[in-house]
Amino acid sequence: MAARIIDGKAVAARLRAQVAQDVAAFTAEHGRPPGLATVLIGDDPASAVYVNGKQKASKEVGIAGFDHRPPGDISRESAIALVQELNDDPAVNGILVQLPVPDHLDGVELTGLVSPRKDVDGLTPISAGLLALGRPGLRPCTPTGVIDLLAEGGAHLEGAEAVVIGRSNLFGKPMAQLLLQHNATVTVCHSRTHDLPAVCRRADILIAAVGRAEMVRGDWIKPGAVVIDVGMNRTPERLLGDVAFDEAVEVASAITPVPGGVGPMTIACLLRNTLLAARMAHSPA
Ligand code: NAP
Repeated sequence: MAARIIDGKAVAARLRAQVAQDVAAFTAEHGRPPGLATVLIGDDPASAVYVNGKQKASKEVGIAGFDHRPPGDISRESAIALVQELNDDPAVNGILVQLPVPDHLDGVELTGLVSPRKDVDGLTPISAGLLALGRPGLRPCTPTGVIDLLAEGGAHLEGAEAVVIGRSNLFGKPMAQLLLQHNATVTVCHSRTHDLPAVCRRADILIAAVGRAEMVRGDWIKPGAVVIDVGMNRTPERLLGDVAFDEAVEVASAITPVPGGVGPMTIACLLRNTLLAARMAHSPA
């Protein structure tokens, strides 16, 4: 029987509607909306598309946008000063430094300066440490969105064998930590993993974040598994995931499509994180 298709667009739309409602309540209570500052250095067109999308989505749910676009030749000192100014600005609850930054700047340094209480990307060393320790903090957007999609797909995480393919700091590592927090038994695979198909076949929950089009084949999937495809691989014809969807859909119990699966959740989770950061600003440190 063909798998249930997990509709990421619908889940993201519900989450945005919920955030909009909660933002309205926050604004009524505190007399000002949560604020999200984006910092786009230079004029990289792809980055501009991402930042425009984040600003537009923020406005739609009632979050105040602070859109900073310093020139590509901004000095390291001025870029650092901008991040620190935003850290100190009480109207700003979330700060997002869009990567990559121009070559003369260090993206890791700049993002690392963002206050952990405003780190809505959840990617600074402090946020990563809080996640690893299981302490409260802001969590990275894409892995958090995957947890929502797993729930939508009917996955039971407690005690389940979860396999994550990919160990990036952006996705694979925080995904594994979140799954552990949900009491899954987690295996993280990467380019040196021996017999990857055999490891994948153990998975009740299989999450692919590799960046190789249709690498995961149907016969890598345990019958009835829930499959989440994070990959976004542009081909001349279309956007492809890391999973061979047509094969996998015949074996899995639920699966995310590409596009329309994980992608729409990332911005929705960014909006939720901004609201969480705004609430944190009104609670004791
Ligand atoms: P990344 O930093 O390039 O990491 C890729 C990971 O895949 C690495 O851990 C790498 O192993 C592993 N890998 C590469 N080839 C492999 C192979 N043949 N077998 C097993 N593992 C292999 O990528 P990323 O940033 O995590 O992103 C992964 C994919 O997810 C990309 O397609 C990206 O576009 C997509 N993505 C989508 C969203 C979204 O919002 N939808 C968000 C984030 C990422 P090593 O560590 O050994 O090199």
